[in-house]
Parts: sequence; C-alpha cells; structure tokens
Amino acid sequence: MNPTPPRVRVVLLTQVIGPLDYRLPDGMVAKPGTVVMVPLGPRKLPGVVWDEDIFDDEPVEAKKLRAVLEIVECPPIGPGLRKLVDWVADYYLTQHAAVLRMVLASSAAFTTSGTITEYRRTNVEPARLTPQRAAALDALEDAQGLVRELAAEAGVSDNIIRGLIKAGAFEPVTISVDTPFLEPQPDFANPVLNEAQQAAADTMTLAVRDGGFSTFVLDGVTGSGKTETYFEAVAAALRLNKQVLVLLPEIALTQPFLKRFEERFGVEPATWHSNMRSTQRRRVWRAIADGTAKVVVGARSALFLPFANPGLIIVDEAHETSFKQEDGVRYHARDVAVMRGRFEGFPVILASATPALETRHMVTIGRYRGLEIPSRFGAAKMPEIKAIDLTLDAPERQHWIAPTLLKALEERLERGEQSLLFLNRRGFAPLTLCRTCGHRFQCPNCTSWMVEHRLVRRLACHHCGHVMPPPEECPECGESDTLVACGPGVERISDEVNRLLPQARTIIATSDTLWSPEKAAEFVARVENKSVDIIIGTQLVTKGYHFPELTLVGVIDADLGLEGGDLRAAERTFQQIAQAAGRAGRGEKPGEVFIQTRNPGHPVIAALVAGDRDAFYDAETEQRKSAGAPPFGRFAAIIISSEDEREAIEAARAVGGAAPQTEGMYVYGPAPAPLAMLRGRYRQRLLVHAQRSVEMQAIIRQWLGGLQFPRSVRVGVDVDPYSFL
Ligand code: ADP
Ligand code: ZN
Ligand code: ZN
Repeated sequence: MNPTPPRVRVVLLTQVIGPLDYRLPDGMVAKPGTVVMVPLGPRKLPGVVWDEDIFDDEPVEAKKLRAVLEIVECPPIGPGLRKLVDWVADYYLTQHAAVLRMVLASSAAFTTSGTITEYRRTNVEPARLTPQRAAALDALEDAQGLVRELAAEAGVSDNIIRGLIKAGAFEPVTISVDTPFLEPQPDFANPVLNEAQQAAADTMTLAVRDGGFSTFVLDGVTGSGKTETYFEAVAAALRLNKQVLVLLPEIALTQPFLKRFEERFGVEPATWHSNMRSTQRRRVWRAIADGTAKVVVGARSALFLPFANPGLIIVDEAHETSFKQEDGVRYHARDVAVMRGRFEGFPVILASATPALETRHMVTIGRYRGLEIPSRFGAAKMPEIKAIDLTLDAPERQHWIAPTLLKALEERLERGEQSLLFLNRRGFAPLTLCRTCGHRFQCPNCTSWMVEHRLVRRLACHHCGHVMPPPEECPECGESDTLVACGPGVERISDEVNRLLPQARTIIATSDTLWSPEKAAEFVARVENKSVDIIIGTQLVTKGYHFPELTLVGVIDADLGLEGGDLRAAERTFQQIAQAAGRAGRGEKPGEVFIQTRNPGHPVIAALVAGDRDAFYDAETEQRKSAGAPPFGRFAAIIISSEDEREAIEAARAVGGAAPQTEGMYVYGPAPAPLAMLRGRYRQRLLVHAQRSVEMQAIIRQWLGGLQFPRSVRVGVDVDPYSFL
C-alpha cells in the first residue's frame, strides 16, 4: 500500500476515536513521531503521526482522506517512546490516546511562544471589594500564576481575577518559559563510599557506561546509603551527557531529595509532578525533549516525558504501592520504567529496603540483578525491634498508647531525642456513630464511613472527598450531643500524647498536612531544627526521611493492615512497619522500635521482631506459589459501573455471561465490588485469575470487544491490580 498522495496514520489525543488516516498536503513531510494538527469534523485537534504497522484495521480509501493541517513546532516523539506507548496500551488494555496524553502532558508541549504572562499580587487594594474579591485576595496572598490557575486556587471564576487585574491588585509578570536548566556537576562533591556501597556503585556505573538494558535491584537496609550509592550511577550518566529520571513515590519527598542532590551535584535537578504551573510544565517538558534538562526527579507521570537522550531511570522506594496508578490509565510505574529501559536500551535501578515480592522473584529467577548493602552507613546500627502485646500491656480505656511505649516516649523527652508514632489512619476517628440509636455516618456517594477530621471540623470521605460539618444532632434520632468517635486516627493519638505528655511538642504528618512540596519542606525543617519532639504520622513519614535525632518508633496498631486480607496485606504490613522502624536510630544514637499488636505470634510480627526478612519473604513466596497468585499467576479486575444499580448489574451479567472458557483461566463474579458504590456509581466486579502461560490481555480484549454497553455504563480493566476494592 503506497497510495499517492502520501498518507499518514495519526493517533489523536481524544479517546473517543481510534487512530485515523490523513493525507499529507503537497510538500509536507511528517515521519512517525511528528506532532500535527488535524481536522476532525468541524474541530482542529492535536495528534501524533504513528507507525503504520501496529493497527490492523482496513485502510480508508485515498480519496476520502482529509489533509493534515499543520506540523506543530515541537520535538517529535521518538521510536522508543512510541513503542512504550504501544506496550502500555496493549498491556493495560487501554487506548493509545489515553497514554499519549500523558506523553504530551497538557497543552504544555504545544505552546510555542517564548514568553508567558503570569500575574502576581501588588500592594494595591481595589476600590470596590466584593466578598468574592476579598476571598480571592485572601487566598492569593503570595500567589503567582496564569489567570486560570489563580482562579482555581482561590476557588473563584476567571472574571473575578480579571477584575482584580484591572483594579491593579495584580500585575503582569513576563516569564521566559525557556530559561535553561543548570548542568549538574558529576564531580561536584564526590563521597567516599564504603566497601558494599562501592561494589554496588561500580556495577551500576559500569552498566550505565556500557549502555544497553538491564535491571538492578538495589537492596539495602534502611539507612545504608542507597541514595549516595545510586548517585554514582547518576554521575556516570552525566559524564556521558545522558539524561536521568529519578522517580519518587510521593511529592512530599521531593524537597529533601532536591537538597541532597544539590549537595552532591551542585545544582537542583528539574522536577515534574501534578502540582506544577503550566509555565513550569512547559519549561521542563521542552528542556527534557531537547536534552538540556539532564536530571529530572518526579512522580510516576514523569515516566512518559520525551527524553532526548535517556541513560538511566531510578525508581526509589520501588516497593511503594503509590507507583500504581488507580485511575485513568491503570499502570504500574515500576513496571513501565523497566519496559522503557528495555525499549530505549538503558539500565533501570529499583532501590528499596523492602523490595516487592514480585521484584525479589525476578532476582531469584535471574531476570534482574540484585545488589545488596547489608548494613547501615557509618556508626549507625539497625534498631532493636520489640512487640508490645496489647492484651497484656494494655493502654487505659479510650487510650491507644501502651504503658511501655509511653515510658519510652518519656525517656526520649528527657534525653531531648525525637520519636515517631506511626498509625496509618488520617483524621481523628475512622468511624462516627450515634450513642443513642447507633446511626453511623456514611458517605452519600460511596460505601464508606465518613472520617472525622477534628482539626478542620469536618467529616470527610477518603474515597471521593465529600465533606460535611459534624452535625449538632443525629440525623436519625434527632438527639443532640450523642455522637461518639470510634477508634483512633492520628489526630486522636496526637490528643492523647498532648494530654499524657503536655511538655512534648508534637506534629501531625499526613497527606492532609504535607500536601505540597513546600509544606513537606517546612515539616522537614521543623524536625531538623529540633522544634518537634514527637511526630505522629501515616505511611507518608515512613519512607525516605532521614532524621538523625529520631531514636524511637512506636507502631500504634500493627494489626490494622493485616485485617483487610487482600493478596498483599501481609507483605504490605511487613514493608510499612519495616520502613517505619527504619526511621529509628539513623544517626549515632541507637534506635528502638515498639510494635503494638494483639497478635505477637503473627508471622509478620515475628519476622520483624527477629529481624528475619528472608524467612518472611520465603514463607510468603511459598504461599503465593501454592495459590497461583502473583508473581506465579496473574489477576485482572473488570469493574462495571453505572449510576443506576440495575443497569450495572445487568451489564455485569452480560460480561459474565460472555466469559470465555479458557484452559488455565478462571473468572469469578460478577458480584458487587467491596466498595459497592464510589462517587455515586454502583460497582460490580469480575476477577480474572490466569496462569502465566495464558495470554490474558488478548483474551479479555476480545471478550469485552464483542460486547455493547449503554453509554452510561463504564467498563474498566485493572491489569495486575493492587487494590481489590
Ligand atoms: P537509605 O536511602 O539507604 O535509607 P540514605 O541514602 O538516606 O539511606 O543514607 C543514610 C545517611 O547516611 C544519609 O545521611 C547519607 O547522607 C549518609 N551516607 C550514606 N552513605 C554515605 C557516604 N558514603 N558518605 C557520607 N555519608 C553517607
Ligand atoms: Zn441517633
Ligand atoms: Zn465518598
């Protein structure tokens, strides 16, 4: 097929329609990867010229083709990244357009002008101050951004902001969007590595220099200096003028990372996360595409950036489940990172003190290379871990800190050392009910309880974000003052600490308090300058942070994570507690860890206390093997949802009825999903369990492709699911 005039296949950035063929006007050349504007109906849409051979539909007749409108002045999407897009679409059963949208991250890629006008606050008070204007000025004290961004931040309309600009309360600032990034210096401050660090660093730098794909698992205990060690691989890539991507699981970890990076390489790296202004976004995107941004640290979405000359990806805290994206394209950033290394031919390093069982298995079977750093750096020793049996050493009624842990906290206070209390529950109490009639507060949109956040005086749903003020009286029986909080969240533990140890200076660290890199930096600074004695935090503080004066970690409820009973409950609990424990004793003073549990004999607790990681992983691996669970078998969840319950059930029945009979593949359900309603939609679920030899995705694609659903029904597939809700 080589019709004249030449035709191209274009993947549009809209999911409504698959790739379409267009005609190239006279004289236009557009190789695969070129970003173009094309007509669709009356509209003009961006798209990318794609490789011909990957879609197997019939070509449209030449005379019916419409012409490409123009080529966008923007670096082309390279063949390696196009292959990655193909793979993600194929593996995670989604459309090319959905993946490509992550590559061309917002309109950032297309804006061609070299300057952008942002607005920032002046000292001028507008003559006319409506309530909305006042609210906007209040919310935007030091803010700067585009009109749209300021409006969103203040929660007002664009027109309010425009009015304020006219009134002089904001002034224009011209920003060059192409200020170049400074070059990190590979030899700015070379560390002296210890023997184990050096051995690991040598292996990784060699792989970077040789080029070519390989995957390393940098497996070092907490505080062993994994960052210092993989920085050597970063330096090796920089010496070759190659680009490096470092993926972090939380943007809260970005700030401390930037500081360490600057200490080692002299300048800060570029950053990429969802919280960026569009000018920053464009600047970073462009600098990555033209190769001038050498190192980027970012959240999982940075994986799809168009690196001109990539030489290395590092996934730090690679076991973290936050690398799994749960909406939109449901991909796992750790696995996609490895595939990117494979398609573009460079090494990938997965760093963790508690690698995922799947990752460990890959090392066992020889697909990944394990590199170990078995002990902490310098004088620091691993902390001593002890279990507190809550049935014997019980806290007072309506309290959650056992006497032994309380005593340990007191000792730290006397010595001027810091402590961390870990509880993976945001807010004050996970459940609120009426003492008189037993009414429980449930989210109107979800099958979940409203969580009391006392600091902001709200009840909030952690699934959809619905909030309401705590009612004065019970909506069921009308009694007032009968609402009681059941169980603890971090705020309640903080209350307890403040009551029992009034001299202690406490801080709550959760995604509610550390929601931006700036907030996180503030938190780190307060802990580092010792204006905090006790941190009360969720899993957010268990990872990455290095606080040398922190010598005690208390795990408030180790049984919490084990209750859920999903496939990875034991593994996740082990990792979380090991990571929390890993915050203790990282400096010269030794650390101590107390794990509160009602079940000290549980294998997870026993392994943590014995410090026997291998025993735990080996036993867990055996269990997975006998259950045919990942990595030995595979799962996919099919979620069918509708605002109408009957419609969801009927659609799910249709999916279940059409389930193919395949050797080595079992389909469970449909049944209501454990989270039977989410954001006002009823959810039905089928679970596919397949042996590794089964071509699961191809079968599911064909199965679902043969069915028709009403527009109001959504059918989503989650391949290798992490959430079973
Ligand atoms: P991990 O990420 O393995 O938990 P870190 O990389 O945070 O450990 O290292 C723990 C601490 O030890 C950090 O303060 C780090 O700067 C320090 N450190 C590790 N290795 C070295 C080294 N070779 N030289 C100097 N300091 C080091
Ligand atoms: Zn009541
Ligand atoms: Zn909800």
